[in-house]
Amino acid sequence: MTVLEVFGEAPVEEPAPAVIELAALTRAFPGDPPVEALHAADLRIERGEYVSIIGPSGSGKSTLLHILGLLDRPTSGEYLLDGVPTGTASERERSALRGGRIGFVFQAFHLLPHRSVLDNVMLATLYSGVPRAERRDRALEALDRVHLSHRTGFLPTVLSGGERQRVAVARAVVASPRVLLADEPTGNLDTTNSAGVLDLFDELHADGLTLVVITHDPAVSARAQRRVRISDGTLTELA
Ligand code: ADP
Ligand code: MG
Repeated sequence: MTVLEVFGEAPVEEPAPAVIELAALTRAFPGDPPVEALHAADLRIERGEYVSIIGPSGSGKSTLLHILGLLDRPTSGEYLLDGVPTGTASERERSALRGGRIGFVFQAFHLLPHRSVLDNVMLATLYSGVPRAERRDRALEALDRVHLSHRTGFLPTVLSGGERQRVAVARAVVASPRVLLADEPTGNLDTTNSAGVLDLFDELHADGLTLVVITHDPAVSARAQRRVRISDGTLTELA
């Protein structure tokens, strides 16, 4: 029994904030004529959701990803990350938010070719203030999560594409982000390697991670629990 119950009051449960909340968010690029790459987008993603955002080339996917990842700012509208308003945040605050709460996975892996798999994952926590021995333990744990414990000493250049992308996923989750943002994560992979990465996303989702996967591929989109379509900068929920 809690103190509140002793005094006859029901405990007040604070609802967890949405991981991502966009309200009337627009991104326009200047030009003649200007391009409105995102048009008054509203989107709410709760903790633990696995959402895909699907749309053809030029529909605004990268623009949306850059905004969600705090790599770009909207022209108007609001973006709350984990309940924190990002519009008024300074670059330093945004950078701290990005480092602590967002994990990125890109189409092109972006691993350092001359560093071991373990080093690649450890580098993601270089400026975290966490002691090196613990960073190493966390990196080994992340590599175990992506089933690459037998590859920690290898260079990325000798790995298959699917293994490289799994290293990139380990690097993305090593700092325990609130959300994993993936941009065409299977775009450089064949069917077998894609299947491995998508199976891994299912496992991370089952573990409670929030995932947002941006893709033009219906087969990739179909694996998510919730699907959103982007077309000419407008978001539509799919059934
Ligand atoms: P996708 O990733 O779905 O292919 P983008 O988000 O890259 O689409 O682009 C959406 C639209 O915004 C396109 O019409 C594109 O030409 C335009 N766009 C993207 N970035 C810029 C920019 N920096 N300057 C001007 N127009 C841009
Ligand atoms: Mg793109």
